Amino acid sequence: MHEPLTAAEYKAIAAEIQLPTNAFIDGSFRPAISGKTFTSVNPATGEALAAITACDASDVDYAVAKAKEAFDDGRWRLRSPGERRDALLKLAKLIERNRHELAVMESLDSGKPVRECQTVDIPDTIHTIRWHAELIDKIYDNTNNVGPDALAMVVREPIGVVGCVLPWNFPLLMLAWKIGPALAAGCSVIVKPAQETTLTTLRVAELAHEAGIPAGVFNVVTGSGKDVGEPIGLHMDVDMVAFTGSTPTGRRFLRYAADSNLKKVVLECGGKNPAVVLPDAEDLDLVAEQVVNGAFWNMGENCSATSRLIVHSSIKDELLKRIGAYLREWKTGDPLDPENRIGALVSQSHFQKVKSFLDDVEAEELSLVHGGGTHKDAFIEPTVVDGVTPKSRLFQEEIFGPILSVTTFETLPEAVALANDTNYGLTASVYTGSLRNAIRLSRDIRAGLVTVNCFGEGDATTPFGGYKESGFGGRDKSVFAHDNYCELKTIWIDISDRSIDEMIR
Ligand code: NAP
Ligand code: MG
Repeated sequence: MHEPLTAAEYKAIAAEIQLPTNAFIDGSFRPAISGKTFTSVNPATGEALAAITACDASDVDYAVAKAKEAFDDGRWRLRSPGERRDALLKLAKLIERNRHELAVMESLDSGKPVRECQTVDIPDTIHTIRWHAELIDKIYDNTNNVGPDALAMVVREPIGVVGCVLPWNFPLLMLAWKIGPALAAGCSVIVKPAQETTLTTLRVAELAHEAGIPAGVFNVVTGSGKDVGEPIGLHMDVDMVAFTGSTPTGRRFLRYAADSNLKKVVLECGGKNPAVVLPDAEDLDLVAEQVVNGAFWNMGENCSATSRLIVHSSIKDELLKRIGAYLREWKTGDPLDPENRIGALVSQSHFQKVKSFLDDVEAEELSLVHGGGTHKDAFIEPTVVDGVTPKSRLFQEEIFGPILSVTTFETLPEAVALANDTNYGLTASVYTGSLRNAIRLSRDIRAGLVTVNCFGEGDATTPFGGYKESGFGGRDKSVFAHDNYCELKTIWIDISDRSIDEMIR
C-alpha cells in the first residue's frame, strides 16, 4: 500500500499536479481580504511553485468568527462521537486514496525525500487521524463517589476554537497530531501552516470537507507568523493554541495568552537530543544504524533528531567506523528520486543557518569525520564532527540539519551530566546491554521520551513532548493529547432528602 513509486512515476505526477493556493475558510477556498500573495518555492530547484494567499489579522478575524459560529451552533461538537469518528475515518481514507499526490506535493514544497513522505509521513498521518477517531467513542467520563446526598459527574467538553500553528519539517504529520485529537473532541480549528509548507494542509482541508466535516470547523489561514500567527495568539475568541515550532516562538505564544484571554497554550518546541552509548552496548552495528537514522532522518530537520552522540571513549573509534559504513547508504540528491534519503533543506535561509555550524568546525579546530559537503546552496551531506565539548554551539544549539556532534565520556555520572547539559529535554536514546544501566539512565535523563537500544518517537498510544524548554502545557499523541483539547466540567447535583422533600412539596 505505501510502497514508493519509481522516480519516473513521481515526476509524471509532479508534471500534472494541481496546487491549492487560497486559504480555506468556512468550507471554501478564498483569497486574502487584502488580495496579497507570497511565493512558495521548491527548495530543491529554487523554482517558484505557486503564489499562496497571504492572510493578515482581518482574515484571522473572519476565520475565527466562522469557527466560533460553527462551535456555538454545535454543527460538529454536538454530533454523536460515532458520527465524528466516521467523518474522520472517511478523511483518513481520502488521504490514503490521494497518497501519491500528497507525497509529491509535500516533497516539492519542503525538499523532503519523496520516499520518506510516502513510506513514513503519509502512513503515520493516516494512522494518527484514525487512532483519534477510533478513540472518541471509547472513552468515558466519570461519576464520583461523593456519598448519598449528591451525584457528582466530571465530564470533558471540547475546549472551543483551537489555533494550530505548525512548523515546516513534518507538515502533514504535525497537522495530524493537532487536528486528530482536536476534531475528534469536537473543537473547531484555525490552522496556520508554516509559510514554507502550506500545500498539503490546504489539500487536507479540502478532503476534510469532502469527508463531511462541516464548513467552519476546519479552516486554514495561510501567511506569515507575524501576520497570521500573532493575531491567532492574541485573539479573544481563540480558546487554545496548539503550537509546534521553535522555543523562541513558543515563548511568544505564552506572552500572547497573557496579553489577551489567558487561552490555553500547549507547546512542542525544540530539542538537542543525546544518543548515549555505553561500553556494554551489545551490537555496535545496530547502534550505528540507529544513530545514523536518529541524526539524519529528514535531513536532521527533526525536533527529536539525536544530534549529540555521547559515547564511551573506549568504543568511539569503532562506532565511528561503523557509522561511516552505514552512511554510504544515505545518498543525497533530488528529493523526487526514491533512491535518495537526504533531500534539500527547506529554504535558502535555513541552509545558510545550518552551514554556519559547518563553519564552526574549522573555527573551533574540531575534527570532521564524515561529510561536510554542500551542493547548490540547498543540500548538505550527512556530517559527523568529533571532539565537540559542551561549550560549543554544536553541542548546545538546535541545528535542525544533518550534523551529528561527537563527545566522549569515561563514567556513567559523566554521561548523564553531558546528556542533561542543555536547556532542552525532548528525547534521548540509550544503548546498553545492561538492564540496570538502561533503567538508571532512562530515569536520570530529563527528557519526555527515552528510547533504549533504538531511535524512535514511540507510537500513537504514547505521549510525545518535552521537559525544560522543549515544551509546555501538554503532550501530543495518545489519550493525553485528547485531554489537551478538552475542558473538565464538574456537575454536582444535590439529591439529599431535603432537596427531594422540597421537590415533592
Ligand atoms: P518557528 O519559526 O518557531 O515557526 C513555527 C510556526 O510559528 C510557523 O508557522 C511560523 O510561521 C510561526 N511563527 C513564527 N513567528 C511567529 C510569531 N512571531 N508569532 C506567531 N507565530 C509565529 O519554527 P520552524 O522554523 O517552523 O520549525 C522548526 C522548529 O520547530 C525547530 O526548533 C524544531 O525543534 C521545532 N519542532 C518541534 C517539534 C516538537 O514536537 N517538539 C516538532 C517539529 C518541530 P512562519 O514560519 O510561516 O512565519
Ligand atoms: Mg515550499
